Amino acid sequence: MNEELKKRYERAGIPREVLAFAEPVLEAIEPRLAAADAAAELGQLKVLEAMRAERVAADHLGESTGYGYDDAGRDTFERVFARVFGAEKALVRAQIASGTHALAICLFGMLRPGDVMLAISGKPYDTLDEVIGIVPATGSLAEYEIGYAQADLTPEGGFDFDRISMELRDPSVKLVHIQRSRGYAHRPSLTVAQIAEAAAFVHEHRPDVPVMVDNCYGEFVEEKEPTEVGADLIVGSLIKNPGGGLAPTGGYIAGRADLVDKCAYRLTAPGLGGELGASLGVNRPFYQGLFLAPTVTAAALKGALFASALYAKLGYGASPGPLEPRTDVIQSVDLNTPGALCAFCRGIQAAAPVDSFVEPIPWDMPGYQDPVIMAAGAFISGSSIELSADGPMRVPYTVFFQGGLTWPHAKAGILRSLAELAAAGEVRLPPPEFS
Ligand SMILES: *Cc1c(COP(=O)(O)O)cnc(C)c1O
Repeated sequence: MNEELKKRYERAGIPREVLAFAEPVLEAIEPRLAAADAAAELGQLKVLEAMRAERVAADHLGESTGYGYDDAGRDTFERVFARVFGAEKALVRAQIASGTHALAICLFGMLRPGDVMLAISGKPYDTLDEVIGIVPATGSLAEYEIGYAQADLTPEGGFDFDRISMELRDPSVKLVHIQRSRGYAHRPSLTVAQIAEAAAFVHEHRPDVPVMVDNCYGEFVEEKEPTEVGADLIVGSLIKNPGGGLAPTGGYIAGRADLVDKCAYRLTAPGLGGELGASLGVNRPFYQGLFLAPTVTAAALKGALFASALYAKLGYGASPGPLEPRTDVIQSVDLNTPGALCAFCRGIQAAAPVDSFVEPIPWDMPGYQDPVIMAAGAFISGSSIELSADGPMRVPYTVFFQGGLTWPHAKAGILRSLAELAAAGEVRLPPPEFS
């Protein structure tokens, strides 16, 4: 690292002993950083090919208002999106308010009273508790007499095929749910190869039952997406990977055309479906965001790898570990003390482009048992493909870390987090000449 860069890092609150400690870590993960770049290269070509094939034109970047009938920009974008993900059809809309909303549309679109949803990767993401009715809530699937069954993953983190085949014998099961990313659960994320195996298993036992995958945080991380290997539907958020940091809001559902249509009738109204829905000003950032998504995802993935390797070297439990395979951009580190968790989040916040002067403090968030600390300084409110970190204030004081629109920013944020841990006396780094 040259002197000018070291000086800049010092001005960013990152002292020399932090840089000296990080340098061999960066060298050690060089091949994995290169692999992330290779994945971005592949993803970029996928996106370019789809945009070329659908003849994306300057006219498509404009907007529609009102009902939004015949919005060629919106319709072409959905065809581009479907191609990129190996899907027949896609519904990608600003009217989908979040990832949870997209998942809820999918569940309500697919299931009818008396049907049962079967989750085969354990309990789904926390925000689905109320959608399903695991936690009683107004308007839940349970209120519509839609049942829920669950097959947990095995202790090794794989699908429990015996249990799944048993559950599939219930003819009321009409939809299988898989969550690719671990969310806030202590389990490994599921690779696309594992998802392919599970989808084949379900289809063999119950050809009539579609498999939907919560694809949040997974897009562009691996060479293939779940819809390219047998999943019937994928669902996700545009303020995560596929929005490339530019989509200001939105979510998507993609997969088999007949199923996507069912979801579209739920999003708007029976009889209307995807024909309706003004694009307002989102066509341009949707296209441009998707164009950037492969490199933005690679930046976030490199940040996750670096954080894993850096904190593992300090002796912290990092998941996934620096050598483990990855299928999403989430990284967790068990920081062991409240002081270390707060210091980590202070560092991420201090390195943010927006609200860098704010000090994150733990607070009692609705719906959580313990106070939660969060660090985020994002251009798009709540965007977690931008550099962000959060964690519940309980043993083992795990920080969940994700995002970074550029690799230099992700790197600076992680280095600053370590600087804050060192300043708080949570870790002791050797002086620069000895590391
Ligand atoms: C983020 C996320 C969701 C929910 O998305 P929101 O946009 O926060 O509603 C669902 N599942 C997984 C795995 C996620 O990471």
